[in-house]
Amino acid sequence: MTDTDQTRTGGCRCGAVRYRAVGKPKWVAHCHCKDCRKQTSAGYATWLGYETAAVTWEKGAPKQYASSPGVERGFCANCGTPLCFVGQRWAGEIHILAGTLDDPASIAPRAHTFVIDAVPWAHIAPGDKRFWQTPKEGGPMA
Ligand SMILES: [Zn+2]
Ligand SMILES: [Zn+2]
Repeated sequence: MTDTDQTRTGGCRCGAVRYRAVGKPKWVAHCHCKDCRKQTSAGYATWLGYETAAVTWEKGAPKQYASSPGVERGFCANCGTPLCFVGQRWAGEIHILAGTLDDPASIAPRAHTFVIDAVPWAHIAPGDKRFWQTPKEGGPMA
């Protein structure tokens, strides 16, 4: 698969909401922040970052929830599956939760953000990039 012909599809658990994401994601990363943990009900969340225009909703659309100032998280209003994130700090981007991909094996995330908030039972593989918060805030961990 080349960078230019990557297209990924995915959706929620019940199938009411479906999306298509075209092109290589700008980044893929695991996020250990408390908000992602709560929103996904999982130890941490895995994300793909795309330019807004790269993602189209092909069936239905996520219901938006303003989770904190300047941040909206989208989920399926029928089955509750969390799907996406849009935040003012990441203007022009939409972030998609990797667990909703039809083929989650198509990505290989090796970066971890908000490690400062990680649960002690989160496994972080040796050699993975680790950031206290994000690459812009908090910087890389030694
Ligand atoms: Zn659904
Ligand atoms: Zn997070």
